[in-house]
Amino acid sequence: MPSDPALRVMALESLLVEKGLVDPEALDALVDAYEHRIGPHNGARVVARAWKDPAYKARLLTDATAAIAELGFGGLQGEHMMAVENTPMVHNLVVCTLCSCYPYPLLGLPPVWYKSAAYRSRAVIDPRGVLREFGLELPAETQVRVWDSTAELRYLVLPEQPEGTDDMSEEQLASLVTRDAMIGVGQVAPPLAGEVA
Ligand code: FE
Repeated sequence: MPSDPALRVMALESLLVEKGLVDPEALDALVDAYEHRIGPHNGARVVARAWKDPAYKARLLTDATAAIAELGFGGLQGEHMMAVENTPMVHNLVVCTLCSCYPYPLLGLPPVWYKSAAYRSRAVIDPRGVLREFGLELPAETQVRVWDSTAELRYLVLPEQPEGTDDMSEEQLASLVTRDAMIGVGQVAPPLAGEVA
């Protein structure tokens, strides 16, 4: 027996199809894209490339949209991107105070909390408090910069590369990078001992 939300979705879909408002094949393609092709693993590849290749990183920080397109990512909701780099002195945090603008081609669907009124308002008023609730306590000397996304410009946080990972391959590095680190509510943790052979 499907769950309640699943039943509601099925009822809605059959109604939309019946009225000729959506094409079921287009809908399937869209669902497949967000389940399999589009997600934080795309953004993670951009971050890992920037860590491995200083020239790519320079291009990413200069013209993120073009640098991201080099890896084949772009399109709807990712037309105008800006990458902001975390350093020991600066931590970047991304929010959309107005609604929920988000770089879909790089990060997939936004988490529920990203769209919540609490996050949208508190990320601006008390970013350190919000970060603490995500388990991230920053040193007092680290400056926190909050970036407000819009439909015109969306942000990707380039997290700091964890120490002791210089010998890892780009693919291995990408596997460490989390969605939260690319929104700026987290940092990239070093691999657990023995995780990388
Ligand atoms: Fe928005």
